[in-house]
Amino acid sequence: MTFITEIKTLKRELEIKNIFLSDDEIKEIEEVTKKYPMRINPYYLSLIQEKGDPIWNQCIPRIEEIEISSGEEDPLNEENEIPFLTHRYPDRCLLLVSNSCGMYCRFCTRKRKVGEAKRNPTRDGIKKALEYIENHKEIRDVILSGGDPLLLSVETLERILVDLRKIKHLEMIRIGTRVPCAMPERVTDKLCEMLKKYNKNPMLYINTHFEHPREITPESKKACEKLIDSGIPLGNQSVILKGVNNSPEIFKELNQKLLSIGVRPYYIYQPDLVKGTTHFIGPVKDGIKIIKGLRGHTSGMAVPHFVIDAPGGGGKIPLIPNYTKFEKNGNIKIKNYQDKNFEYSLK
Ligand SMILES: *Cc1c(COP(=O)(O)O)cnc(C)c1O
Ligand code: SF4
Repeated sequence: MTFITEIKTLKRELEIKNIFLSDDEIKEIEEVTKKYPMRINPYYLSLIQEKGDPIWNQCIPRIEEIEISSGEEDPLNEENEIPFLTHRYPDRCLLLVSNSCGMYCRFCTRKRKVGEAKRNPTRDGIKKALEYIENHKEIRDVILSGGDPLLLSVETLERILVDLRKIKHLEMIRIGTRVPCAMPERVTDKLCEMLKKYNKNPMLYINTHFEHPREITPESKKACEKLIDSGIPLGNQSVILKGVNNSPEIFKELNQKLLSIGVRPYYIYQPDLVKGTTHFIGPVKDGIKIIKGLRGHTSGMAVPHFVIDAPGGGGKIPLIPNYTKFEKNGNIKIKNYQDKNFEYSLK
C-alpha cells in the first residue's frame, strides 16, 4: 500500500481520472503541504468524482489552510501534563495512541500534530498514561484515539488492549477510527480476529467517522460488517463541514445509510476553532437545522446529538432545536416535527 503524499503522484493519479491540476493549483498545494502534510490512500482517492466535490474537499489541500490566520492550534486545551492523555470528565478519558491516519483530513482537529513523526506516542509515554489510568479508579471508560488507532500494527494495538484489560476498574473501551470509512482494506481478518478476543469485559466499542453518503461503498460496508461480526457495536461521529455535508438532506441520507450498514449515528460536531481549518466552519444554525431535519422525519436512531466541544476545554455541550415553551401556569406548549402546536397539561 502506498500513500499519495507528494504532489507529482497526486497529479499523475488525478490525470488517470481525467482531472487536471493547473500550475497555480499545484503551487498552492505545494505551499500548504510544507506546513500540513498531505496523505491520501488510493481507495479514498478513487471516491473523488470531480474537483471540489465532498470527497475532494476532505483530502486535497487548499490554500486557505495557510492563508487564513483565525483559529488556534489546540483550542480544546488537550495538551497537558500527562502526554497522550486527556482526562477532562470524571469517569472517562481520551488516550492518543497513534499519530498516523489512513488519510490526513484537511479539517482535522488535531492538525497540529497529526502526521508529525516526532510527536508520535512512545511506548514509554503510553505506559505512563496507563499507570495514570490504573491509579485513577474513577475512570471506567477509555477512548483510544489519535491519529487513528487502527493504523497501529495489530500487535501494537493488541498489546495496548491487553494492558488496558489488566486495569480492573475499566468497564468499557472505545476506539475512534476513520479506517472503516477512509481505508477499509485495513479492516483485515487478522485485525478482526484479534479484536474479537477482546470484545467484552470490558466492552469494546468502535466509533467510526463517516462524513458523506458517498463514503458508504461496498468496501466500507464490508469493513463495518466484519467489525460487527467480531462482536463490536459501531457508532459514528461526523463533523459538520462547509463544502462537504452541511445540509439536512445530506445528513438524512448519510445517517439512514449508516444505519443500513449497522452503524449508529452518535455525534455531529460543530467544527472546533482549529487554525488551518476555519474555512470549513459554517454557521452553528446549520447543525440545529440538521437535527430539525432529522427528528421525526426519519428513524429516531438516525438522529445523533449535535454538540460543540467548548473552546478552552469545557467539554461537549449539546445544542437542541427548541420545541418547547413553558407557560407561567406550569403548562407547556410544544411543537412537533411538522411545526404543529400541542399542549401538555392535565385537564
Ligand atoms: C469526547 C471526549 C470524551 C468522550 O465524551 P462522550 O460524551 O462520553 O462520548 C472524553 N474525553 C474527552 C477529552 C473528549 O474530548
Ligand atoms: S483520520 Fe481523524 S485524526 Fe486522522 S486526519 Fe482524519 S480526522 Fe484527523
